[in-house]
Amino acid sequence: MLKTHNCGELRSSHSGQSVTLAGWVHRRRDHGGLIFIDLRDREGITQVVFNPELSSSPHSIATDLRNEFVIQIIGKVKKRPSGTENSKLPTGEIEIIASEIKIYNASKTPPFYINEEVDVDESLLLRYRYLQLRRAKLRDNMLLRHRVIKFMRDFLDERGFVEIETPIMIKSTPEGARDYLVPSRVHPGQFYALPQSPQQLKQLLMVAGFEKYYQIARCFRDEDQRADRQPEFTQLDLEMSFVDEEDILGLLEEMFTSLIETVTPGIRLTKPFPRMTYAEVMDRYGTDKPDIRFGLEIKDISAILTDSEFAVFKSALQNKGTVRGICLPGCANYSHKQIEELTEIARNCGAKGLISMAWTAGDGQQDINSLQIEKIKSVAAKYLKAEQIKEILAVFKASPGDLVLVAAGDRGLVNKILDELRREMGKRLNLCAPNFMSFLFITDFPLFDWNEERKMWDSTHHPFTAPFEADIPLLEADPGKVRARHYDIVCNGYELSSGSIRIHNRALQEKVFNILGYEKQDVEAKFGNFLEALEYGAPPHGGIAPGIDRLLMLLTNSKTIRDVMAFPKNQAASDLMTDAPSAISDQQLKELHLRIIHD
Ligand code: ASP
Repeated sequence: MLKTHNCGELRSSHSGQSVTLAGWVHRRRDHGGLIFIDLRDREGITQVVFNPELSSSPHSIATDLRNEFVIQIIGKVKKRPSGTENSKLPTGEIEIIASEIKIYNASKTPPFYINEEVDVDESLLLRYRYLQLRRAKLRDNMLLRHRVIKFMRDFLDERGFVEIETPIMIKSTPEGARDYLVPSRVHPGQFYALPQSPQQLKQLLMVAGFEKYYQIARCFRDEDQRADRQPEFTQLDLEMSFVDEEDILGLLEEMFTSLIETVTPGIRLTKPFPRMTYAEVMDRYGTDKPDIRFGLEIKDISAILTDSEFAVFKSALQNKGTVRGICLPGCANYSHKQIEELTEIARNCGAKGLISMAWTAGDGQQDINSLQIEKIKSVAAKYLKAEQIKEILAVFKASPGDLVLVAAGDRGLVNKILDELRREMGKRLNLCAPNFMSFLFITDFPLFDWNEERKMWDSTHHPFTAPFEADIPLLEADPGKVRARHYDIVCNGYELSSGSIRIHNRALQEKVFNILGYEKQDVEAKFGNFLEALEYGAPPHGGIAPGIDRLLMLLTNSKTIRDVMAFPKNQAASDLMTDAPSAISDQQLKELHLRIIHD
């Protein structure tokens, strides 16, 4: 190689050795006489000194060096003079006294600092992503990504899993999002779909007898972009035969635990992973992806308010809705402006408003027994009996100084509002412990969700998920009551993985398609081959697919998954570096039998 050591490697034990290093000029300091270069490569930074008295020609070349020039230097490792060591750098006890230098390439002045993580417009960073990747944070994220994926591969390999690639150009799979489509040149008017996940293919690998499969699988979904979404993303896709829920969840718990303890030992996690049913998380947190690093749990106070004359509560309860809330410790003195900000969050979810009840502290009040009703500040207070107020505060286990936020209305809406408020307050009250991964297993999801727009059932997960054996008789009679053998892994408020035990029998699979409203011909056209495979000795099987980008986003405490991907797209699904998507030539359109309609 053009170097003998990397830039993160040398220590005082190397003193006196002659070495060759190569890398980028990270920083240059000219001390009128001595020139200091911080030389950077992937592994770190080493200080190089050019002394005009020892070697005049390299020194004069060094005078012309600018940031990001690519150079090679030859020199001797020397312990730094005492008092000049840099304890922040692993190589900070030594420097290289350069005797030779070669410039491999100059560099234009980069459009942003590489040697400082100064915030600049993200589109500039994305346009010059290869330069942003030189910055320490992104570089470290990518190196961590490599180690995480390698850990997963080794872990699964040791347990008998086989890595198998599945095609990228497939027939559309129903995962609930829009497909990215690829037009076929040889089949006019026909399209491949990019996989939203290799779901059917991995099930077919079980039919094929592989028993334990995994793949670092790229998935493509044409959805609106968010901080934790990209049009293409990576899952650790896995599938096993002859297993039940416990086998999959046990494997995943062991994998995540040992991965974090080995690869990111600075991060703590709860062991064993807590478990909740879907009904329980919805009740306690109003969402199926709660951040359980903190409490602020939702409480239902509908039962206390059945005879309430307060219009907001009354109309909610009359319309089969609910009244629920959360208690914010120590927030009773929130200003009008702060309450307004929280109310705005509720409005953005579709609520008309939010009811707050502040229990202002003081005057010897210690608990509900010593509560002075006039200390409760709320528009609802005058409509409520003292007993009701006390009961409400008791449900929330409130103390003087607390603020209770209450939402009333349709249960789905109320849950949405309280989930948003919980998340916001978790941040504002600093309740989200850093460097802590709070995993949660959720089980017992409903198999179907009612889609009010289509007036039909949708799969909560996907149509291949098996129902609870005991609930099969309900499939036709009461589909909404059927529980699914579906499990999710949630971490710090993000859905990290979904998976399920699958249907492995044709008749049951057909019945589920039928409940989902697929016409017979449609099922045949879309899933005929898959259904046929189930008739050739399909074993019982199940799997899961943890999102690798989301996992890394959490491990690196990043705000977006863009920070853990080498070349992500922006919020508008464009790649600003290569300018994709872009128009294609008329010739290409013709070959693909396509005509663009501009509207
Ligand atoms: N294919 C599913 C998904 O992408 C995961 C699974 O069921 O294994 O969510």
